[in-house]
Amino acid sequence: MDKADPFLGYVSDLVDFVNLKPEDVEEFSRRNFLPKAVWGTRPASHTIVLSPNAPPKQIPGYQLWQTHQKKVQDLWKEGFPFERCLELVVQIDRFSQQAQAWEQVLQMSGEELQKRIDERTLFPPKPETWPIQKAIWFLSVNRWRVQFCKICSQPFAIIAPHTRKQGCCSIPCRNEADTRRKHRWGKKNNWGRN
Ligand SMILES: [Zn+2]
Repeated sequence: MDKADPFLGYVSDLVDFVNLKPEDVEEFSRRNFLPKAVWGTRPASHTIVLSPNAPPKQIPGYQLWQTHQKKVQDLWKEGFPFERCLELVVQIDRFSQQAQAWEQVLQMSGEELQKRIDERTLFPPKPETWPIQKAIWFLSVNRWRVQFCKICSQPFAIIAPHTRKQGCCSIPCRNEADTRRKHRWGKKNNWGRN
C-alpha cells in the first residue's frame, strides 16, 4: 500500500465500516471516520397510535450507524455509480451539519441562543468534511478497486494494484483460493500420476 496516499487509508477504513459488526463499534468509533453523532442510538422499538381506529404500529429501534452502513453496502452492490456517491456524500454532510447544530444549541444558554437567533448567526455551522466522504468520492472515480471477495463474498477494495487479479479480501481467503486451485489442478491431472 502506498502510505503517502491518505485516500487509500480512508478506503481501508471504509472497507472496515462496510463489514463492521456491532461488537467492534466501540473500537471503530475512535477512528473519527464519520460524524460522531452516528454512534448514538435511536430508541429501542416502540409503539405508536396513528389514529383511534387504527391498530397500534410497531416501530423497530435502529442504530444510526447501521443505516449509514446499509447505504455503503448498497453502493458496493451497485458499483459506486457517481450520482449515488454524490447523494450519499451530501447526506452525510447534512447529517453532520444537523448534529453540529444540535450540539451547539444544547450547549448554549437561553440568552445566548436568543442573541444568536436575533443576530441570525446561529446557522449554518461551519462546513466539515469526513474521511468517509473522501473514501466514497475516491472510489466513485476508481471503481475497479471495488470488489466482492470470490471466497467469502465480503465487500472489499483493492489497495495495492498488483493484487487486482487475486479477487480475495484477505490472506486466509487467498490461501483458500490457492488450495482450491491446487485441488482443481490435481483432479484434472490425476493427482500428478500422469
Ligand atoms: Zn474473503
